[in-house]
Amino acid sequence: MAQQYQYNGKTKFIIVTGGVISGLGKGVAAASIGALLSARMKVVPVKCDGYLNTDPGTMNPTEHGEVFVLDDGGECDMDFGHYERFLNVTAKKDWSLTMGRIFKMILDKERRGDYLGHTVQFIPHVTDLIKEQFYRIADQEKADVLLIEIGGTVGDLENQFYIEAARQLSHDVGRTNAMFVHLTYVPIPSGVNEQKSKPTQMSVHDLNRLGIYPEIVIGRCEEYIKPHLKEKIGLFCNLPADHVISGVDVQHVYECPLVYDAEGIPEILAKRLNIYAPPKLDQWSKLVESLKRNSVTPRKTLTVAICGKYMALEDSYASVVESIRHASAHLDLRADIRWVDTEKVENGEITAAEALKGVDAVIVPGGFGSRGIEGKVMVIQYVRENNIPFLGICYGMQLSVVEFARHVCGMKGAGTIEMESSNYHVETPVIAYLPGQEKIKDMGATMRLGGHDVLIKEGSKAQEVYGSNQIRERFRHRYEVNPQFVQQIEAGDPTGANQQKLVFSGKASGEDIMQIMELTDHPYFMACQFHPELKSSLIHPAPLFLGLLKAADERA
Ligand code: GLN
Repeated sequence: MAQQYQYNGKTKFIIVTGGVISGLGKGVAAASIGALLSARMKVVPVKCDGYLNTDPGTMNPTEHGEVFVLDDGGECDMDFGHYERFLNVTAKKDWSLTMGRIFKMILDKERRGDYLGHTVQFIPHVTDLIKEQFYRIADQEKADVLLIEIGGTVGDLENQFYIEAARQLSHDVGRTNAMFVHLTYVPIPSGVNEQKSKPTQMSVHDLNRLGIYPEIVIGRCEEYIKPHLKEKIGLFCNLPADHVISGVDVQHVYECPLVYDAEGIPEILAKRLNIYAPPKLDQWSKLVESLKRNSVTPRKTLTVAICGKYMALEDSYASVVESIRHASAHLDLRADIRWVDTEKVENGEITAAEALKGVDAVIVPGGFGSRGIEGKVMVIQYVRENNIPFLGICYGMQLSVVEFARHVCGMKGAGTIEMESSNYHVETPVIAYLPGQEKIKDMGATMRLGGHDVLIKEGSKAQEVYGSNQIRERFRHRYEVNPQFVQQIEAGDPTGANQQKLVFSGKASGEDIMQIMELTDHPYFMACQFHPELKSSLIHPAPLFLGLLKAADERA
């Protein structure tokens, strides 16, 4: 029989639910509450999703947003991006619960005979299993605070077992150790022009019917919530008015912890859970100031092009966008993003030169499949030949190698095996399967995933950018630079007419995997097999992004 976990008597639980409508930013709200505490205590986030996928790894980014990869290889929801950036933690895949994982655990237990003789039921078996996950994580992590975010909106069928489990948990651990925070919406309907409390009341009543009494209600609103409305919400939801918090719209998500601090959340937590930890937000608020100042009166404005194919949903590249913000805050400048759809470049609707007119820096981010690839190669050729600062990420690095092989090394048939199809043969596969990958049939969690060490070449630009010879970054790929062609590509133009060289300046430790490449005779042409955007934060911007914007700043 598996170990039964029980409350350890130490951890405090903060459970965040959402109501009225989806998309209010529950992840950011939960992360912002955590940010108020995390400087002085260990806050461990747990996300509960209602869907049946084991993880979002197999979902299209246009459907679910970016897949956020953890150091341990977990493929998670984008909310883990907020958690890591706001809480300064390295999250673990175990902290991401999906109904798919929960049901799998239940069915495995049933087959093993753990429930022998009993009917396996949603209550108590599913809810007990969910609670056990909460207790186990709290215990294993020695968490001071377990921050549980329940995905979806109250009233959704698929989240009800999480909500019931959380209710039971709050009963088990007692009032001083758990509290609920509910995020709602306070609309200002046009024509009416005043803040309306009814959706919030209804949504809190929905929760009350489930036996849950939230003690902080955060109202997302265009404006600060008026005192009389706080009174009203408080009256109908059984709360002191000062427990109704303005979740006012902000320009940058990083402002949220500052707003919550000013609205008094730390004091409420202190009062209710006895965890007073004055927030440490000095450096954070200086950087937020830089973002705000530069959006109004910028010292300088740079335009950064992101060239990819999942342009329908900017969330597909959420961490790339955040990384640009982080770097811009440190450089005291404003960075505007231009989205360039590489399929349009590929089919000739627009040339690379037109698409990149006036841009100061270019990013080709990660991607999959053969659609839009040639457009990316055209963009890369243009930035290489026109000295535009460039960062290629994952697929962006692979295609930079393809471009250089074709146009500098004279390897005309160079391509990636990923382009191969029944009507297209890749003659010179400079990008090939990672060892063992071609045999893999399952799609879920089968790529090379998670954190790996990168050894950096002495004297390279990469070394200058990172200020180190060994770093750790996160990967998610099935293909790699084909080791067979490394020498030929590094040799450059066989005729000697073009002096530019491609240098593989970062390698895997102990394996023949190329992880960073850079070009000589170019102000900044860097590309990496990993995803530097996954480790960037406001306080610690990713060095490759900082380097990109610095190079663009110097040039502009
Ligand atoms: N499609 C490429 C690979 O699997 C690149 C992946 C990525 O950009 N994340 O190797």
